[in-house]
Amino acid sequence: MSNDSSEKLYDIGDLTFPQAVRRGVTLRCPSCARGKLFRGLLRMNQKCSNCEFSFERSRGYFLGSTYINYGVTAATTTFSYVLLHFGFECTNSQLLPGLVTFIVIFPLVFFRFARSLWLSLDCFLDRVGASEAMVGSRQAENSRRDLPKRQ
Ligand SMILES: [Zn+2]
Repeated sequence: MSNDSSEKLYDIGDLTFPQAVRRGVTLRCPSCARGKLFRGLLRMNQKCSNCEFSFERSRGYFLGSTYINYGVTAATTTFSYVLLHFGFECTNSQLLPGLVTFIVIFPLVFFRFARSLWLSLDCFLDRVGASEAMVGSRQAENSRRDLPKRQ
């Protein structure tokens, strides 16, 4: 491996759990923590603008983020219900409109964070796959560079 100063190499093997969570919550690249995951409200960048880490490794990669989104929504709803019903003695008819509104809106708001957390935690748990995503991104870039130009 060359030590070319123009290459921006980051070692995903150094990623700790608190770093992964922080990068997930702040919607940053799990590899370098500088590049932004989203370029709009819902549009994701394909790779990091700083280190070229590939965010979407394969089709359907972010399907797993729905588990995070569902889990956080269900846990928050359950906790809120138990707290308000048993702690503050709210009736079910009082709680129903608020909780239904919450379970419809919250997953939409949390969508970006669920994807970001999924990516960061996957990088933390699957370092080989994360390293391959980085190498694959570099190889794809190098192969595009090496192609002969059309005349
Ligand atoms: Zn990056």
